Amino acid sequence: MHIFAIANQKGGVAKTTTAVNLAAALTASGQRTLLVDLDPQGNATMGCGIDKRGLKSSVYQVLLKLGTLADARVMSPSGKFDVLPANRDLAGAEVELVDLDMRETRLKEALAAHEADYDFVLIDCPPSLSMLTLNGLCAAHGVIIPMQCEYYALEGLSDLVNTIKKVHANLNRDLKIIGLLRVMYDPRNTLSTQVSAQLEQHFGDKVFKTLVPRNVRLAEAPSYGVPGVLFDKAAKGAQAYMAFAVEMIDRVNSWKDES
Ligand code: ADP
Ligand code: MG
Repeated sequence: MHIFAIANQKGGVAKTTTAVNLAAALTASGQRTLLVDLDPQGNATMGCGIDKRGLKSSVYQVLLKLGTLADARVMSPSGKFDVLPANRDLAGAEVELVDLDMRETRLKEALAAHEADYDFVLIDCPPSLSMLTLNGLCAAHGVIIPMQCEYYALEGLSDLVNTIKKVHANLNRDLKIIGLLRVMYDPRNTLSTQVSAQLEQHFGDKVFKTLVPRNVRLAEAPSYGVPGVLFDKAAKGAQAYMAFAVEMIDRVNSWKDES
């Protein structure tokens, strides 16, 4: 079971789009996948076709040990993968966890009981470096960082990298940055191509080969509760996320070969 957190403390950089589409693409490629929604906005939950207002249980109950993951998970009717859903309740977890012990490793603990159920677990983190994101980073083996190729893209990156280093040093020795995923890419925009080249220069093979283009079909899909890769399979954005799933599968297989 490979656990990846999709994190960037900036909002609107396609964390949720990446989480939902990678989950659907991995599933379409035969991988048993769980998507964990760690954002109180519940966008990943809704984008998978699950009504966040009608949940019996959610990731909130799991983090506070009021319920189990087995009780809370729901299958995405469109994507056919499991989702540990979220809604507004989760906003309270931030405060409620503060006084509890092992507060950073609650998600890790919950996932450990399901080691045999999944090949991939993807965690959609909220746009902050909060206790929720910390739970995501403590549970994960690696971080996938979606980035827009714009002038300010690199600015917040050092904060995220420092947080990942701290978590690695103090809480989770397994954690590493898997890679930077360039999203909403526009090849006709000079700045976009410049920043993209800069990323390759600085981060080398930490930059995924797959480039996700700006594609309106990916933005339309969530309102139908269908992952973009299934909503319009022929669209450029869908094809990019399918290619990204292949790249991720190759990546984890190459680790097997090394060990
Ligand atoms: P985050 O989870 O980081 O806040 P989202 O995944 O919600 O970001 O994406 C922010 C907005 O950008 C959403 O409206 C989403 O539909 C849109 N979006 C994401 N990726 C693309 C893309 N490749 N092309 C066009 N729109 C996109
Ligand atoms: Mg999001």
